[in-house]
Amino acid sequence: MPDPKIDIKDSPIPESPLQPVQYTGEQEIQFSCHKNIKCFNACCRQIDLQLTPYDIVRLKNRLGMPSEEFLRQYTFPYEIDKDGVPGVKMKPVDGTSQCQFMTEEGCGVYEDRPAACRYYPAGLLSLRRQDESVDRQSYVIVQENHCKGHFEDKIQTIDQYREEQGVVEYDEHSRGWRQLILKKISSGPVLGKPTAESLQFLFMACYNHDKFREFISNASFRKTFDLNEDKMNQLNTDDVALMHFGIDLLKQVLFGEQTIPLRTGAVKKRIEERWEIVQQRNRLKEEIGRAQKDAYELDMESQQSENDPDDAS
Ligand code: SF4
Ligand code: SF4
Repeated sequence: MPDPKIDIKDSPIPESPLQPVQYTGEQEIQFSCHKNIKCFNACCRQIDLQLTPYDIVRLKNRLGMPSEEFLRQYTFPYEIDKDGVPGVKMKPVDGTSQCQFMTEEGCGVYEDRPAACRYYPAGLLSLRRQDESVDRQSYVIVQENHCKGHFEDKIQTIDQYREEQGVVEYDEHSRGWRQLILKKISSGPVLGKPTAESLQFLFMACYNHDKFREFISNASFRKTFDLNEDKMNQLNTDDVALMHFGIDLLKQVLFGEQTIPLRTGAVKKRIEERWEIVQQRNRLKEEIGRAQKDAYELDMESQQSENDPDDAS
């Protein structure tokens, strides 16, 4: 059986004295969490939870709210890297660090709880070196003083724990998003600082799914991308399909990957339309310039005639 510990030299994390130990899924952990444990709910009283797009779909559908309302009420945005690549974290109860979904009986959204809650005390590390095209997946184990689950007898591998917690499905639905975010972060030094518009678009496509649905339904989007009625019907009714479509569209827009078919001649037509808009703007600017010049000259003439004593008669 291969050693489940990952060689530290193989780690994409820069070497540091605080280097966390990284494991494969074959690593055994001694841990169990249940309702009768002394520390029950302790972890939900001090949250710092990053949400994935799939977490958001599951939670907003459970609560029956549009994504925008969910984001406003239960989350806050944060910057994943120095270039402002956007992420979303769970917003705690005002003035505390307690999760808004915590109840005395436990998690109020248990069947739809986020991936990070399912993983705990393990954490997924999805990392990519700048010279690599695929990301590496490994796990870390967090041992916090308040968590007594580490003193329970149950022993299982991290992979078995992932199955038990239903996190495998979450990872499958989040893989495309993780790859996209890693690629965006690692390409930062090459592509330079992203524009505010591209970061806003990334936020909408990743997290604000209902707004993104409106965006892809507009006529100009349909003129550019070749989507048949069946595909549009699926995107209008299936939030998970819409979420994956958003990630694919971002791969195309940000990195030029051919993920979504374009209409024949659509790019050329859009360039021509934009060129025409630019030309119209330039013509308008010239006309405004001429009108301002005429007004200025008229003004100067009338001032001159007021100051000229010969014209006073
Ligand atoms: S979502 Fe549930 S499990 Fe996760 S922190 Fe909140 S209450 Fe705890
Ligand atoms: S055992 Fe750990 S994970 Fe379970 S309730 Fe206690 S603190 Fe939370």
